[in-house]
Amino acid sequence: MINVKDIQAVFIDRDGTIGGTGHFIHPKDFKPYDFCKDAFQLLQDHGIKTFAFTNQHRISRKEASIQEFLEEFSSYGFDDAFICPHSENDVCGCHKPRPGMLLEAARIHNLDLKKCVVIGDVGSTDMLAAHAVGAMKILVLTGWGKSSLQQCRDAWKNVEPDYIAENLLEAIRWLLKKQGGI
Ligand SMILES: [Mg+2]
Ligand SMILES: [Zn+2]
Repeated sequence: MINVKDIQAVFIDRDGTIGGTGHFIHPKDFKPYDFCKDAFQLLQDHGIKTFAFTNQHRISRKEASIQEFLEEFSSYGFDDAFICPHSENDVCGCHKPRPGMLLEAARIHNLDLKKCVVIGDVGSTDMLAAHAVGAMKILVLTGWGKSSLQQCRDAWKNVEPDYIAENLLEAIRWLLKKQGGI
């Protein structure tokens, strides 16, 4: 288990984790859940870098732009955002469950991914990407979280999350408390 003072970054999925239902929502219509403000504040108070990491294949269909997503994430105070704009059929290294976005973040920000935490609602993408690089894995029950644990469990059956949280705020509270931060 990572000690809180050693946590180098927390990666947070967007759809179903920060807000929405897990489905595509254009940045102009996206509303974070009420508790996100507190969650982001806690991370900032503890000086923990936060990165968004999200698959947004609708960008490849020109339904939204990378710039619109970057502006959205920076309005929440994220330190950086990693976005896969490719379609599911493209062969890219960044589409979760592939770990390309995490590896790119590690390269740019000099991170040891074993000292990073991934929080997301989908086992077969978020948890598998985290597993591939040895990051800590927290599954949230918002978005697709419950179905990830039930009907979709087979798609990631060899991986166990380190913790299952009600939502993003509870995930951060657990992380900090567990690590002796608050
Ligand atoms: Mg999601
Ligand atoms: Zn990609």
